[in-house]
Order: sequence, then structure tokens, then C-alpha cells
Amino acid sequence: MHLSNSPDPKLTVLAGGVGGARFVLALRAARPEARITVIGNIADDIWLFGLKVCPDLDTLMYTIGGGADAERGWGRADETFHAAAELAAYGAQPDWFGLGDRDLATHLIRTQMLSAGYPLSQVTAALCARWELGVELLPASDDRVETHVVVEEGGRKRAIHFQEWWVRHRAALPASDFVMVGAESASPGPGVVAAIESADAVLLPPSNPVVSIGAIMAIEGIRDAIRTTRAPVVGMSGIVSGRPLRGMADACLNAIGVDVTAAAVAAHYGARPDGILDGWLVDEQDADQVPAIEAAGLLARAAATVMSDPASSVTAAEALLGLADEVARRG
Ligand code: GDP
Ligand code: CA
Repeated sequence: MHLSNSPDPKLTVLAGGVGGARFVLALRAARPEARITVIGNIADDIWLFGLKVCPDLDTLMYTIGGGADAERGWGRADETFHAAAELAAYGAQPDWFGLGDRDLATHLIRTQMLSAGYPLSQVTAALCARWELGVELLPASDDRVETHVVVEEGGRKRAIHFQEWWVRHRAALPASDFVMVGAESASPGPGVVAAIESADAVLLPPSNPVVSIGAIMAIEGIRDAIRTTRAPVVGMSGIVSGRPLRGMADACLNAIGVDVTAAAVAAHYGARPDGILDGWLVDEQDADQVPAIEAAGLLARAAATVMSDPASSVTAAEALLGLADEVARRG
């Protein structure tokens, strides 16, 4: 398979929130004819005030659908927070999670459909119909998988929900481990394995290696499909020049003892079939790391990967497609 001469390639993307959403927008712009499937992380999901909130799926849906707040990167554009203010006036907890008024409508419908017995995959498809994404968005699983963070406070270890650690504590509480509760018994959602097996390329955008990509890979059926698919599997580093470009991915890497460098993340993912990657794209600022990554058995290239506007985003997406092509041509 050569991506460059396939008229309508099938591209499958495994994504967390913000970095993944930006990348998918760019990929759709770069390859309007491609059939793009996005497998979204569900392990950030949380129940709040009786409502099921899916931060990564919603970030993907709003961003790709053109309804996201561009500055914040998450939540709806033109948002207000009246309901959250009223909840706070009642002294309701938790008070640290941003629930916008427009956003609430999404959670209300999702929760109503789940209560009526629909699986998350069907609920997500129903919500996405409104947004006309031009790509298919599949939750990684219909089963419940939740990232919990093992933290130490006052000499005692306890596990808290990922959102409490990330949003409430701004990832500043020292973490010693991440536990993807439910992952060991979770099955891939409908269409997920097929999208990986039948893809012309599987792409890992710059998503959090631990709590986004790592959480998706914690589901055995997905991990196995990634390891055995005939498609090239390539990823783009979200660590540039020893730092995350946005977000706090460094806190997650520190917690699991992986250095905050593009090469260390590549080594953490590893080369297939024992690992999950054939190729790794690093930013041009990290070109000196290419030989070390290749020594670990991956095809590595350096390119401009900072997605600061539509043009630079398309350039980054094209570079990752080019790497997938190179992997495919090498067989
Ligand atoms: P997630 O979006 O839910 O996976 O959570 P994070 O915000 O923790 O992870 C996003 C990752 O994408 C971080 O490592 C960011 O540095 C990275 N990222 C965000 N924007 C860009 C970009 O424009 N280019 C590259 N190469 N990485 C980016
Ligand atoms: Ca996330």
C-alpha cells in the first residue's frame, strides 16, 4: 500500500483530547478524500452530578465539528457558566470541574441515552451526527475504563480520579502510578479493531503518551490489533525540545519514570511487534534524537510538528503521512 497513490486511503487515528483533535483537523484538511476513523480515549470520563462527561470525546467532537473554544482548546465556543455558578452557590461539590451551560446539553443527552440502554458508541454517533465531523469518531470501548492516579499526601498513598488530579490539583500532587480501572476486562468498542486492521495507516497524533494513548493501549484487544495490523503504525511526538507544547504530559511521564524527551517516549512505546510503533516523527528541534530512536528499531524522521495555525498543522500531518508511506515502502 502506498498512501501517496491510494485515491481514498483509510486512516485510523488513536486520540486523546486537544493534541489529537488539532491533528485530526489537519489530517482532514490534508486528505479530504480519505476515510478517517478516530478512536477516542474514554479513560478521562467522569460522572458529575449524575451526568456522564467524556472530556476527550467531547474535545474531539467540538474541535473537529467547529464548535470548540479555540483559546481554551476544550469546551464550547461562546460558552457561559451560569449553571456552574448556581451549583457553587449551593456549595455543591466538586466545584473544580468546568461545566459550561452549552456543554451541559451534551452531557444531558448522553446520560439520558445511556440510561435508556444505548451503548456509548451509539450515543457518540448520535451526538456526532449534529456536528457533521466528516470523520468517524469511535469510543475506544463501550465498557467503563477510568484512569486513577496513585498519589501520596501526608505520607499516605491513595488513588484519586484522573480528573481530580489533573484539573483540581493541576497535576502538581506527586503521582507514583496510573491505574486504568476496568481496562483488563474491557473489550474494544464496535468497529475499533476493524478500523485498525483494515487501515492503510494507523496514526498516533501528539496525545498524552500515558493517560491518552497509554489508556487506549491498556485495552488488550486494541493493543493486539495495533501489534498485528498490516498497516504501518506511526506517531508524532508531543514532546518538543524536552517539554510538552501544551498541557502537563511531563507530569505523567515523570510519574512512570520516562524521561521527558521525544526519544524516551519512542522507547517507551517500543518497536512492533513487542511494542506499538513502526515509525516516530519528532520535531525539527529534536533532529539530534533521530539516530537514538532508529537504534531502538524505529524509523525516525524530524520535521516541523508545531501546529500553530492551519497551514503549519497541515504540514505536520503531511509529514506523518510521509513517514507512514516510507514505512509501507520498506515493507
Ligand atoms: P490529551 O490531548 O488529552 O492527550 O492530553 P495532553 O494535553 O496531556 O497531551 C497532549 C500532547 O499533545 C502534549 O504532549 C502536547 O505537548 C502535544 N501537543 C499539543 N499541541 C501540539 C502541536 O501543535 N504539535 C505537537 N507536536 N504536539 C502538540
Ligand atoms: Ca485527555
